[in-house]
Amino acid sequence: MKKQKICVIGDGLSGLTAALVLSNLDINVDFITKNKQEKKINDPRITAISPTNFKFLNKYLDKKDNKLFWPCKKINLFYEKINQLYNFINFSEDQKNLLYIIKNNDLKKVLLKKIKRKKNIKIISNEVKKVDTKNSCILFGKKSYAYDLILLCVGRSSKIISELVGKRFIQKDDKEIALTSMVSHNINISDPRQYFLKEGPLAILPTNEKNFSFVWSVSNKLKNKNINDFVFNKLKKILGNKTNININKIITYPISFKFNSIFSKNNSLVLGDGSYNVHPVAGQGFNLIIRDIMKLFQFIEYNQSLGLPIKDSEIIKKFVSSRKPENLLFGLGINLTNSFFKQNEITSPIKDFILSDINKLNFLKEMSIKISDKGIFQSLK
Ligand SMILES: Cc1cc2nc3c(=O)[nH]c(=O)nc-3n(C[C@H](O)[C@H](O)[C@H](O)COP(=O)(O)OP(=O)(O)OC[C@H]3O[C@@H](n4cnc5c(N)ncnc54)[C@H](O)[C@@H]3O)c2cc1C
Repeated sequence: MKKQKICVIGDGLSGLTAALVLSNLDINVDFITKNKQEKKINDPRITAISPTNFKFLNKYLDKKDNKLFWPCKKINLFYEKINQLYNFINFSEDQKNLLYIIKNNDLKKVLLKKIKRKKNIKIISNEVKKVDTKNSCILFGKKSYAYDLILLCVGRSSKIISELVGKRFIQKDDKEIALTSMVSHNINISDPRQYFLKEGPLAILPTNEKNFSFVWSVSNKLKNKNINDFVFNKLKKILGNKTNININKIITYPISFKFNSIFSKNNSLVLGDGSYNVHPVAGQGFNLIIRDIMKLFQFIEYNQSLGLPIKDSEIIKKFVSSRKPENLLFGLGINLTNSFFKQNEITSPIKDFILSDINKLNFLKEMSIKISDKGIFQSLK
């Protein structure tokens, strides 16, 4: 059989990971990016990766890239009640790590470096304007290129996705934005913390003992306020007034829960933020995407082991039916958690009651660790 060819469009975390991972199959990969590769990668976010996903990713990286990840054995969760912070749950492991934290820029750089070294990956710098799903082709001007599988990893705001799979989606827009930046400080913080504050959830993700990134989800009405003072004052309050902090430029991201009803057509499949967006409160977006890529790899590998082609096969159908329910459940679950922690005079007494003893429920803690590590269905096995 002629060597099969797939195309990966988009150089965000989804596209880079998909191109690198799938290139380990017996296929050729065209990796299409609209950004010039000489351009500096600029993604100021930080990503926390679960141990199972880290192990999977690590197989495709160099040993020395390991030092870019900051491993953590503890996670503490706090809840703000009448201006006081209560540490209501502690996750702690002696033997294994609970999370691996990496700067998106570092991860993108190492993925790209590996992609450039792969003989079966061709990097094409161009913007895809049209996908012909009927003939499984992408079009650059009058030229068309045919593929056995087209993966659209083009992010949440790309127009080609709605043209391809329509505009039917489930959405809950709480009119929130995520504020994020790096902070240097003079105390020691080596483990992540999540604060459920009255303004919205704030995650602290250290990249070493003296630096962390924060992600604070707040109402988009705050966009017009003096964000720098607002963040500075809150961080001082949380970390103690005597702590010296230095905050880099704060970047805002739009956030909402959005889930496309359809994310494939014929031999084209949407992966990553283009198919669903989950709230960043649980740091699960890219973790779900890694699980999607893992599954896609398995289905293609299985097909190839039987000598079957990728094109017009059951791969996309099997992928959608195995991953769609889990991703939707995750997204809804994260939204529910976020709503639970919102300040509400009626539900707050119930919340206080539930949270007061939650740290003693070891079964619940173990289950949440498993689910955020392996996903819902895998952790039930
Ligand atoms: C503040 C914040 C914090 C987060 N923290 C975490 C975390 O801790 N853990 C976690 O798991 N997830 C986290 N996430 C989620 C995670 O960052 C995203 O899910 C992930 O980055 C999405 O990557 P993507 O490649 O799908 O999309 P994008 O990053 O949007 O990439 C899309 C790419 O496609 C390119 N492109 C678009 N159109 C075309 C075209 N027509 N032709 C060619 N190229 C095109 C774009 O230039 C872009 O480079 C966080 C998200 C936010 C907002």
